[in-house]
Amino acid sequence: MSAEPWRSTDAELDARVAHMLARDSLNLGQSSDQDRLMLMLTRSCELRCSYCFVGLTEAGRGQDHPGAADPVTLAEPPGQPVGDMSAATLQRAVDWLMRSERERLGLQFFGGEPTRRFTHVRAAMRYALQHPQRAGRPLEFLLTTNGLSLNAARLGVLDGLPLTVQFSLDGDAVGSRFRRGHVASAEVVGQATERAIDALQQSGLSWFMNATLPPAAAEEVEARYAWARARGVPALQLNYATGMDWRPEQQAAYLRGLWAVLGDHRARPEGLRLLNWANGADPAPLCGDMIVDVDGGVYQVGALFHERRSPALKASYRIGHLDGLQAGRFTDRRWRLSELAARTRQALSGRPLEIFFDNVRLGAAVDLLVERARALGAPP
Ligand code: SF4
Repeated sequence: MSAEPWRSTDAELDARVAHMLARDSLNLGQSSDQDRLMLMLTRSCELRCSYCFVGLTEAGRGQDHPGAADPVTLAEPPGQPVGDMSAATLQRAVDWLMRSERERLGLQFFGGEPTRRFTHVRAAMRYALQHPQRAGRPLEFLLTTNGLSLNAARLGVLDGLPLTVQFSLDGDAVGSRFRRGHVASAEVVGQATERAIDALQQSGLSWFMNATLPPAAAEEVEARYAWARARGVPALQLNYATGMDWRPEQQAAYLRGLWAVLGDHRARPEGLRLLNWANGADPAPLCGDMIVDVDGGVYQVGALFHERRSPALKASYRIGHLDGLQAGRFTDRRWRLSELAARTRQALSGRPLEIFFDNVRLGAAVDLLVERARALGAPP
């Protein structure tokens, strides 16, 4: 084996990127039996994480956006809507998902911080579960949250639902330095986070820690993993931050750390599920998922993930508005990854374009690394 098995050559990366674009999303492409939809419930959040490029605002918090379609052209890209997703828009989004022709369905609650619309989250779950066009199909919910407003009472309301909580969590105080408080101090945020972990541990709900590492934390992959083990976290997903400029030595440090984590977990898998073993993720900036914005606009998710860093992507990644989409097909309405890559090349130029595809290559490097690690043996 190579002395640096985590490292791939340029030729290997070129080939893997081409392969990933050609095969399309494993989760949502033509070979998948699942359709899913993400919902941007609000653009409000208690935090302003340094690696987050969603257009967040506290303006219009708690007010329903009317959900009207704005005229959009490439020359005049969509602006940032003000207000939260209304119950009516939420129901229309679920109605559209239910037109899926696939066997399994998924609904992901996202933001901003979706629990700032907690009653809407619960109502949407109930609406989706009881939807006549669901026709008994399995339906999975994913709640992406910073955890700050989770407590035993709220988690109790979610008990018994087909739900997984994706807890954005960066470990100890050093790791969490990228999670900046906005409507609360760092101390209050830290205490609320610890309380949420305890409440989740006691709730019996399925949950995992989603750790995002920016380039400045490239050397801290093993530290996040060690913290998760020590804190008794049941499952962990480690991610690199996209939309950021990863220098070659930072990419190497991240990959080296991920390789070491996989090796340690292979040797002692008990007590923690490491979700990174699941090979075949989309190359992160080119995510295959669709998302409904607070105003009912529908986009490939990268449009909102990179909204502040690469605003030009927003018009290119726009699929339409629920007004026009709701009565049409859901399945295969998303862009294929190769189409997304082409749209990205048209929308961006210069350094932003280089950074975008450098991030894609880092995703390919992770994919190759995990494949090599699995060849040495993966936990059951
Ligand atoms: S908690 Fe999530 S939505 Fe809020 S700033 Fe951080 S990454 Fe962005």
